[in-house]
Amino acid sequence: MQTVYCMHRCCTVTYCPLVLSWAITVHKFQGFEAGFGKDDMVKYIVADMNNLDWEKSNPGTAYVVTSRGKTIGTVTPDNPYPLESNIFFDGQIGPTRFTHAAYKNNGEECLQVEKRDNWARYLHQKSESTKSSYDENTLSTMHDNNESIIHHPLTANQSELQSKIMNILTEPNEKWKQLRNNYII
Ligand SMILES: [Zn+2]
Repeated sequence: MQTVYCMHRCCTVTYCPLVLSWAITVHKFQGFEAGFGKDDMVKYIVADMNNLDWEKSNPGTAYVVTSRGKTIGTVTPDNPYPLESNIFFDGQIGPTRFTHAAYKNNGEECLQVEKRDNWARYLHQKSESTKSSYDENTLSTMHDNNESIIHHPLTANQSELQSKIMNILTEPNEKWKQLRNNYII
């Protein structure tokens, strides 16, 4: 809140200055960051951390959001929450958010964590089997192709991109559709 005196200093007005803000899920904010540089589109994040139950069904989201801010400012005993921070929190935030999120109260691993680990193992196996089933030259060609795909736009324009995305959504690859049930809820 800010209080301003009149020119004679006999009366005051107290008001709450508002700043236009946007809400976005942390899933969508992956790859973005907040900073004070001239190229930073976002200066401040106010993260609603929800609670440990949220973390258990969305493992890793606390890590994603805490790593989006470029600085937390200079924290001192007198100023534990400096304004020169790119990130502020609401909800349950504490060490358990990072250390206890993978397990249920009964000690069992959370289903989402189990599925995520299965997915990582599957990708690792795939990469190992690819490496062992092709010779050096083919691997090097595949590597170059991947590099060129990464560094060139997949589509010529926005409308082609949109129609490609619509195709993926309306006609998903059948094999992948079956497979994803094992890894994603
Ligand atoms: Zn006055």
